[in-house]
Amino acid sequence: MSYVSVNQLTKRFGSNTVFEDIEFTIQKGEFITLLGPSGCGKSTLLRSLAGLNPVEGGQIIVDGVDITHTAPQQRGIGMVFQSYALFPNMTVAGNIAFGLKMQSLGKAEIQREVANVVELVELQGKENHYPHQLSGGQRQRVALARALVVKPRILLLDEPLSALDAKIRKNLRQQIRSIQKELNLTTIFVTHDQEEAMIMSDRIFLMNKGEIVQQGAPEAIYTHPANEFVAGFMGHYNLVAADKAKSLFDMDVNSKVAIRPESIYVKEQGRECASHISAPRTGVIKNHQLLGNVIRYQVDVDDCELTVDLLNRSSERLLATGSQLELLFNLNEIQPVRAENV
Ligand code: ADP
Ligand code: MG
Repeated sequence: MSYVSVNQLTKRFGSNTVFEDIEFTIQKGEFITLLGPSGCGKSTLLRSLAGLNPVEGGQIIVDGVDITHTAPQQRGIGMVFQSYALFPNMTVAGNIAFGLKMQSLGKAEIQREVANVVELVELQGKENHYPHQLSGGQRQRVALARALVVKPRILLLDEPLSALDAKIRKNLRQQIRSIQKELNLTTIFVTHDQEEAMIMSDRIFLMNKGEIVQQGAPEAIYTHPANEFVAGFMGHYNLVAADKAKSLFDMDVNSKVAIRPESIYVKEQGRECASHISAPRTGVIKNHQLLGNVIRYQVDVDDCELTVDLLNRSSERLLATGSQLELLFNLNEIQPVRAENV
C-alpha cells in the first residue's frame, strides 16, 4: 500500500477550478518534485495537502488514515516556504523551538531536540543569532530545521531555493536531499526549475494547468515526453510536423515528432554511421548561442528550423552563421508526441 494516496482531489477558488480529480500515490521515503510553470497549481496543491486550503472534493490518505478534513497541526506535515517566514524577534534557537513549545515539551527535551536539528542543518554556533544577522541560505536552513524538529511524517517544500543565488542554491539542494535520505522522510518539493527537479527527485510530477501531465523518474520524463507540453518544458526538444518528419527522417507518422538538440550530430568526414543514424541532410546555420560547454545552433534544414547542441570542444568548433553542414539524426531518439490537451 502507498504511504500517501490522493484520490480525486478538487480545489476551487470561487469559479476558478485550480485542479479537479487530481490523483497520485507516493511511497514512504520518496522524494517527489512538483514541477510546472507559474500558476499551474503547485502551491495550491501543496497547501491543500498541508490543510492550509480546504478542498472541494476528494481524499488525502496518509499511512492508511484519511486526513482530508484534519486540522493542519494534527496532520504531521512540515512545510517550508520560499519566504522563510521566520519570527524576526526570535533567535535561531527560539524559532526552531517554537513548534516544540506549542506541544508543551519539557525544557531539557526541547534543548536536546533543537541541538539535534541544528547539527543536522549545520547551523552550529548560530543558535543565538537573529534572522536579520543570517544570510538567505542560513535563514532557509532555520526554516528547514523548524519544520524538521517536530518530526513530521511528510515534508513539503514550496520553492524553498528560488530566492537564493546560484551557488547557495546548489549547496542547499544537496543538503536537503541528503537530510531527506538520512531521515527517510517522504518529501514533496516544488520548483519551476527543470534542472533542479531532474537533480533532486526520485520521481517528478510534471504539472500544467492544474493537471499532472506526466509522472515518472527524471530520466524517463526527459527521454520520453508524453506530449508536446512536456517536450517543450523538459530540455529544448525540437518539434517537427508529421510531413517534415517524412521528408527529413523518412518516418511515417501522423503526429508531430520530438528530437532533442543533443541527438542531432554533424557528419564528420570519413566516419562510418551506425544503422540507427539517418541519411545526412544539409543545413544552414542561422545563428548560435554560446552556453559555455555547449554551443546551441539554430539550423535551417529544408525550411525546418532545428536547435542543434554541439559540445564546445575547441574554438575551431564554432561554425559561422550562413555556413553549411551535414546533419545526422539519431533515429532511435526521434519519437512521436501527442498534441497538448488531447
Ligand atoms: P503555482 O504555485 O503553480 O505558481 P498557484 O497554486 O499559486 O500556482 O496558483 C494556481 C491558481 O490558483 C492561480 O490561478 C491562482 O491565481 C489561484 N490562486 C492561488 N491561491 C489563491 C487564493 N488564495 N485565492 C484565489 N485564487 C488563488
Ligand atoms: Mg507557487
